[in-house]
Amino acid sequence: MAIILDGKNLRDKILAELKEKIDTYEKKPTLVVILVGENPASQIYVNNKKKTAEKIGINSIVLNYPENTTEQELLNKINELNNDNEVTAILVQLPLPKHISKENIINAIDPKKDVDGFTPYNFGKLFSGEKPYVYPCTPKGILLLLKEYNIEVSGKHVVIIGRSNIVGRPLSQMMLNENATVTVCHSHTKNLSEITKTADVIISAVGKNIIEGEKMLKSGCVVVDVGIFKDSTGRTRGDVDFESASKIASYISPVPGGVGPMTITSLMLNTVELFEI
Ligand code: NAP
Repeated sequence: MAIILDGKNLRDKILAELKEKIDTYEKKPTLVVILVGENPASQIYVNNKKKTAEKIGINSIVLNYPENTTEQELLNKINELNNDNEVTAILVQLPLPKHISKENIINAIDPKKDVDGFTPYNFGKLFSGEKPYVYPCTPKGILLLLKEYNIEVSGKHVVIIGRSNIVGRPLSQMMLNENATVTVCHSHTKNLSEITKTADVIISAVGKNIIEGEKMLKSGCVVVDVGIFKDSTGRTRGDVDFESASKIASYISPVPGGVGPMTITSLMLNTVELFEI
């Protein structure tokens, strides 16, 4: 049976260390989260971020905007926050309402306050093999989790399923930086299982049940499940069929309790890293 990659345990350890560090600061980091509209999932995510930040001594301010807020109003606020020395990190919760350009909003954030690492400056640095101010949270959390279990990716074949800007794309670059041989798959990929069968490390970020054990995995591989969704019975699950995959893999991350806690942990780490610039 595979060893569980326990994100909760590592989260608790890292957050305890961060709290100790923040306790020594005279002035505390301030994270501002902008939430537009009433998306229930976004409200839960934002609430969790605020609670976690406050638990470890980070000032956390949530700015709630109504659904009909204009792009210009948001741009004005971001400009104000960029120029506010008390604000050290800015996060715009996605998705935004359709009438607001996500790109225009993200591009407006000062890269030194861009706690998600999504601005073109930070993304460009990452994709050119240089160091951004911070790395995007979910990929960073995945690498921290693998490192905690001494899982070396250098020279390994890492297969990433999903090419979104929040997971697959930045993760592919971070894996290259770690000297992995990287294959990125997506909805147009043909013969997915032939590719996944050759993976030493497989990371799935799709949001659908697409990975089955024996059919798709090589014996002893490492499986990281990023996907999280509710199935038809309302149960929270990941992309991977945990039961069959855990019989074949050497390590596997559960859903919930694997990558999710590491994403929020990385957000806290990034907040502190930006504060220290
Ligand atoms: P997304 O933007 O919808 O991207 C999904 C990716 O999956 C796309 O690249 C898509 O390909 C690919 N895909 C769809 N169907 C496929 C198939 N049958 N075979 C292979 N690839 C397929 O989603 P996301 O924002 O990256 O999130 C993905 C999942 O991870 C969601 O369940 C989300 O909730 C979860 N997530 C979890 C965390 C966490 O902290 N635990 C963080 C972020 C995301 P195309 O590009 O061709 O459309």
